[in-house]
Amino acid sequence: MSHGLLSGRSAGCIPLIVVTETDFEAWLARQEDFLRRWLSAAGFKSKPGRFTLIPDADGALRAVVACIGTPADLWALAGLPAALPEGDYYLDAPYEAENLQRLTLGWALGAYQFDRYKEPKRAMARLALDAACDGGRILALVEAVGGVRDLINTPAEEMMPEQLAQAMAELGQAFGASIEQIVGDELLAHNYPTIHAVGRASSHPPRLLDLRWGEPGHPKVTVLGKGICFDTGGLDLKPSSAMRLMKKDMGGAATALGLARLIMSARLPVRLRVLVAAADNAVSGNAFRPGDVLRSRQGITIEIHNTDAEGRLVLCDALAEAASERPAVLLDFATLTGAARVALGADVPALFCNDETLAAGLLAASQREQDPFWRLPLHAAYRDLLDSKIADIANASESSYAGAITAALFLKEFVPDEIPWAHFDLMAWNLKTQPGRPEGGEAMAMRAVFAWLEQRYGGGD
Ligand SMILES: [Zn+2]
Repeated sequence: MSHGLLSGRSAGCIPLIVVTETDFEAWLARQEDFLRRWLSAAGFKSKPGRFTLIPDADGALRAVVACIGTPADLWALAGLPAALPEGDYYLDAPYEAENLQRLTLGWALGAYQFDRYKEPKRAMARLALDAACDGGRILALVEAVGGVRDLINTPAEEMMPEQLAQAMAELGQAFGASIEQIVGDELLAHNYPTIHAVGRASSHPPRLLDLRWGEPGHPKVTVLGKGICFDTGGLDLKPSSAMRLMKKDMGGAATALGLARLIMSARLPVRLRVLVAAADNAVSGNAFRPGDVLRSRQGITIEIHNTDAEGRLVLCDALAEAASERPAVLLDFATLTGAARVALGADVPALFCNDETLAAGLLAASQREQDPFWRLPLHAAYRDLLDSKIADIANASESSYAGAITAALFLKEFVPDEIPWAHFDLMAWNLKTQPGRPEGGEAMAMRAVFAWLEQRYGGGD
């Protein structure tokens, strides 16, 4: 078993004694003199996140004592795989199965390393699965999150629309899903003009990737991902500081694929469709321009105010196609606006939703799964910020206010009100390492959305 986990205790497995800050004094009073003297001599402070190594009489590592805030905190032990000496550990922690499960998942998410181009400096410490844990479930989550991180962390040079297609094909093959794709000029023949326009300047042609899985009788769940493999901003070129991380602009597509993996591996009784609008927003003589007017799949004319607002363009044709099948629920993930980051910071995606029941369910799942996002309003009065003098709508507002909301309002034009729809505007990137969340690509909102799907459509545990 990989991912910093062992399927069970090996010989020589070292106990990881977990004590909450509140319980620490009472726990210490019950320990032998040797341990109390050692903790005192080492100056151990019982603060969450602190740990200390306990030697035996021969100087070998006998145990680790780790202090946490609460065992309900997913990330309580997530810093340890990289902090403890390389080796194998098991949890010596008197907690109910649900908390052991959570602590183990956090550990495993913290054991991720992106090793495609560089040998890791060290191996991660490994944790033996406690018998009370559902190992299959932990592994499914860890593989899904790791897969999303890998896709995002891979540089654009090796993660163009064709490689996203490859990733979807491999996923489909693993779970018996069917895959179709529409590539390059075929997009025009099949009436996906906006995806074509955004991607046409690249030597890596744009693609609409389409995965279907599940039985026809089950409720249809359709998931969309923004797959801008690199975003130069197009002719309204981004400044270098804003372009530096733009390999992550396919983070929504990666998240959609990760969610699909979770749904299929849990055999959730839904009819799944995943649409990824994949394009490289490049600069060339045939690049689309500010002032151009595109006619969308639905016939809505869009005046291009700024070519850097391309995510909503590739999504709008995909949304129109998705909506034409009237799914039971429509979800999209997109690294869409800097404005959402200004409002909520890098760690908290913005949720936009046209259905109160869906929004409440998703937000409750977000709390339960410790996978944060926060709802922003589809404030209809801001729609006039997208008015165009010569077309039905502009692709971006000239106002410096409410950029995340106007982006969501743009998408809303392509989704009929009666289809429950949730739009996630997310960063897909950890700017700094926090326990369990290493700097780099990140699967945001995915675990919570999956938990909501499980609850709503059955299956799972
Ligand atoms: Zn852009």
